Amino acid sequence: MSEQKKTYEHVIRERWCKGCNICVAFCPKQVLTLRNGKVFAERPDQCIGCRLCELRCPDFAIEVREKDASGATHKDAADIDYDIKPEAHHD
Ligand code: SF4
Ligand code: SF4
Repeated sequence: MSEQKKTYEHVIRERWCKGCNICVAFCPKQVLTLRNGKVFAERPDQCIGCRLCELRCPDFAIEVREKDASGATHKDAADIDYDIKPEAHHD
């Protein structure tokens, strides 16, 4: 494994997001913001993958995924396979 900066993508299910701002408030890197009442990953390159947003969201509306160097997304053991398709997918 080479030492490369990890990058993350944010899978957002806008249908489930009620714009409560919890994830925005908990994010230590100010990655997230609200846009039109829904969460939006404004600075995804700042994300450290701590998953506080994912853990704190009461509605399971945001999910953080690690990307590898090629930009492909990893699924890991903690990943929950939701059956609905996300409406927004912010890299
Ligand atoms: S994983 Fe952590 S740093 Fe990344 S958006 Fe969520 S709270 Fe912010
Ligand atoms: S993603 Fe979750 S925590 Fe963030 S604003 Fe939407 S409902 Fe609230």
